[in-house]
Amino acid sequence: MEKVEYLVVGCGLSGAIIAERIASIEKQKVLVIDKRDHIGGNVYDYKQYGITVHKYGPHVFHTNNKEVWDYLSKFTEWYYFMYRVKAFIDGKEVNIPFNLDSLYKVFPNTLAQKLEEKLLNNFKFNSKIPILELKNSSDNDLQFLAEYIYEKVFLGYTVKQWGVKPEDIDSLVSARVPIYISKDDRYFTDKYQAIPKNGYTKMIENILNNPLIEVRLKTDFKDVKNKIDYDIMYFTGSIDELFDYKHGKLPYRSLNIEFKKYDKEFMQSGPQINYPENYDYTRSVEYKYYLDEKSDKTILSYEYPCEYKDGKNERYYPIPNEDNQKLYKKYLKELLKLNNARRTGNPRWIYVLGRLGDYKYYNMDEVVEKALMLAKEKL
Ligand code: UDP
Repeated sequence: MEKVEYLVVGCGLSGAIIAERIASIEKQKVLVIDKRDHIGGNVYDYKQYGITVHKYGPHVFHTNNKEVWDYLSKFTEWYYFMYRVKAFIDGKEVNIPFNLDSLYKVFPNTLAQKLEEKLLNNFKFNSKIPILELKNSSDNDLQFLAEYIYEKVFLGYTVKQWGVKPEDIDSLVSARVPIYISKDDRYFTDKYQAIPKNGYTKMIENILNNPLIEVRLKTDFKDVKNKIDYDIMYFTGSIDELFDYKHGKLPYRSLNIEFKKYDKEFMQSGPQINYPENYDYTRSVEYKYYLDEKSDKTILSYEYPCEYKDGKNERYYPIPNEDNQKLYKKYLKELLKLNNARRTGNPRWIYVLGRLGDYKYYNMDEVVEKALMLAKEKL
């Protein structure tokens, strides 16, 4: 049996960061394993025809957290990038998040003006209103507008993405893309927004670039768990796997992402177009916009959401609802029991983290923040 002090399972953003923290703070050896044949987890990117492509779909980094920003800045230079997204609605490209300008794109001028006034009279300028909140409005005109945005922007997209209507999933999901009571046309409003200049994979490579860190790819935890003895494990996979699914499987949404290369310089007007209506895919992303890369070809991805099936596809999104949270908590209890057993002779200690480990719909900056927090607490 191989013996290590620190084992990290999963070499995505959280796994790489916790390994770096262990190596830098504890000055101890760390073994990182990942079942895939590449580092980076779902932020992995690669270059093709001079274009940096995100294998697991679009990742645009944004944060208001200076500590997170400063930490990652040690490992990458940035290409500053304010993300702008359009949705294809009734044959027109409309700004998403829906904002005051979007009104004029979809309604005749006089109606748009009236709705703009109504919005400004009822909500603070520059505020952001989740669609499900706007739908509760008592004003008839605002109700009409809410119904329009709900139908045109959220309903079709959400049914495709999650298999359920916006009101049947945690309200925080549709609140990620609120209606802007302003003319701000940026997808995110965070202070720091950028993409690693040399790609996410290079950034992760730099994070892992420490002689105390060993990375073993194509190494599945379930195949090696009885062959590697560890004192402390940081597990970034899905927690149900740790306990052989004894309480049932935690559900996830997955994506079937189709990549297409075109022998044309550009295919769309900007980096991301959402398709709430008509198409089977939710969005198309043209990657050369991300780092302003020049090529006479272009590469786009099209996302077809689907159910996650063990061994068939990848986990992308935890599905936030009450039942799943209950199931997740059952597993957390198991983990607590396991760790408590340490006091009665079990020398091992296990922490879970990351989007899968915490079963939370984290953005990348939250993943970094949580990993840094855990490192501060435990190391
Ligand atoms: N959403 C939508 N229409 C859009 C954009 C987003 O209905 O044009 C909803 C949908 O439910 C989606 C959620 O808002 O899953 C969050 O969108 P976001 O762009 O944050 O998704 P991610 O990039 O994490 O897949």
